[in-house]
Amino acid sequence: MDQKKILVIGSGGREHAICWKLASSPKISRVFCAPGNSGISQHAACISLRVSDINGLVSFVKKEGIDMTVVGPEAPLVEGLADSFSKHGLAVFGPTKAAAEIEASKVFSKELLTEAGIRTGSYKVFTDPDAAFDYVKSIVGVPVAIKADGLAAGKGVLLAHSLAEAEEAIDLILRKKVFGEAGNRLIVEEFLTGEEASFMAVTDGTTVLPLATSQDHKSVFDNDMGPNTGGMGAYSPAPVVSSALFDDIMENIMRPAVKAMAKAKRPYQGVLYGGLMIRDGIPEVLEFNCRFGDPEAQPILMRLRTDLMEIFEAALEGRLNEIKLEWDPRTAVCVVMASGGYPGNYETGKVIHGLEKVAEMQDVMVFHAGTAKDGDRFVTSGGRVLGVTALGNTISEAIDLAYEAVGQISWEGMHYRRDIGQKALRHTSGAAGMPENRHTGSTAKVGIVMGSLSDKEVMEAARDILNEFGIACELRVASAHRSPGLTASYAGEAEARGIKVLIAGAGMAAHLAGTLAANTILPVIGVPVGNSALNGIDALLSTAQMPPGVPVATMAIGEAGAKNAALLALQILALEDRDLARKLKEYREAQAKEIEELEIGN
Ligand code: AMP
Repeated sequence: MDQKKILVIGSGGREHAICWKLASSPKISRVFCAPGNSGISQHAACISLRVSDINGLVSFVKKEGIDMTVVGPEAPLVEGLADSFSKHGLAVFGPTKAAAEIEASKVFSKELLTEAGIRTGSYKVFTDPDAAFDYVKSIVGVPVAIKADGLAAGKGVLLAHSLAEAEEAIDLILRKKVFGEAGNRLIVEEFLTGEEASFMAVTDGTTVLPLATSQDHKSVFDNDMGPNTGGMGAYSPAPVVSSALFDDIMENIMRPAVKAMAKAKRPYQGVLYGGLMIRDGIPEVLEFNCRFGDPEAQPILMRLRTDLMEIFEAALEGRLNEIKLEWDPRTAVCVVMASGGYPGNYETGKVIHGLEKVAEMQDVMVFHAGTAKDGDRFVTSGGRVLGVTALGNTISEAIDLAYEAVGQISWEGMHYRRDIGQKALRHTSGAAGMPENRHTGSTAKVGIVMGSLSDKEVMEAARDILNEFGIACELRVASAHRSPGLTASYAGEAEARGIKVLIAGAGMAAHLAGTLAANTILPVIGVPVGNSALNGIDALLSTAQMPPGVPVATMAIGEAGAKNAALLALQILALEDRDLARKLKEYREAQAKEIEELEIGN
């Protein structure tokens, strides 16, 4: 295979995640990043060119023979980087200046949405401050959203809760011109309430390929208090987006938006990001962005299993319809660690401690947003400094792991939110009947129950196999003898919660599988754990010897049994999932090939 050179433009956590993911692609020989940061330089060669230096970037790409350029932030796209690159015959992932206007002009974006009949808050455009205030005072009232038309580094949206605040917002934008030219016009928009979610899709202009869902945390303090920031954390998937809602968003927002852009002679290629407000299951568009969200890209790319380069290539070649995305079914949580004072003034150059400890943690990535090197030490160089991102089987496991990693890191004055992921937790906790999210695999299909925490190591072998096949599972401790009530209620409620198969691992007098089976009609697979004086023979017999009428499928003792339990669970699920059946066939074929190719000397 001809390996390619790729350039990523930008210097934040989003670009770190993109570079990290691309660096693992077999299709790529070398990743470059302009300008990048010290964290990014672990995966890419950083080039000291500013993102606004379009001519410099064109020259570099030509000189170095870069095969493709990927643009992280919106500013260079809005400035026409993609147009300049195309003019020079250079491949670039990201929309043209005309298409990027979907983010660069709120007026354009609102007109497009209205024309295409896509749900969004009602609005009116103003250039005259008195007329704008009159409209607020006499027609819409407060609360109300007042938005500068153009790009304002994420600060151009002012939410006014009183008429005085509305008057001040209008004054700031149209008279005081705090956002400069971006505030030549403003829109007064209906105030929407509900829960926000980020919905991103990659598109080649025809096919719209949705990414996993996510949710950002814009306010600087816990419980969404304080001023807006670039984003203080994110998680993926976002359970607020049920499977039905996902289809609704694709059908009624994302596909029509891409179609409307083509109709407006602004064909869209790149990532289209919909910032949505969801109320009573109905999504409305708050804004569109023309690139990956940051920090959302960090948890999303941590979960992406498909080669990112393959996606970019397909988007450029207009064959995204050939791509099927594969996701890690686990949840990813990203906690942003920021400099003291951010989003206001802050100092830089503070030495960051503890990164080496986190580097040893499994399922944790620290994406750098604003770091530099001082000798061999990392120091802070921006407002948002790090995106500490962790994977977990459940949202709470991901939150715990992310904060465990955050706890290892420190620098003078740092701050971070302590409630990242709590909204997702609210959706999942006690959510009997929570809608299954087939697109993101967010809901467990297999319950792995163990009699004691000491069985965890063995039972994790089952979890790993399920994860490998993209099937979400949950791990629980429940004892047949020591917590019989919990065991019975877990089994009793499992079916209603969308679980299809139960796996039970226990040692000694292992009645766990039997107790579960007695309380459900779901198939139960027992794994005897060999932690007793009898090395598991006791557990094997107590798992297998069920009275007629209450079946338990019993596997081998220990890890081999746990692995087979997962495979049997997959085979059961595959009866109604052709894709999974295909993957199981491939797995068997690979297994056979491995053995056939074994060579032993004489
Ligand atoms: P935007 O840059 O348009 O996403 O706006 C930034 C943030 O302001 C959003 O994430 C929302 O939290 C909030 N916001 C924007 N528009 C509205 C609206 N019409 N009603 C209520 N909140 C809004």
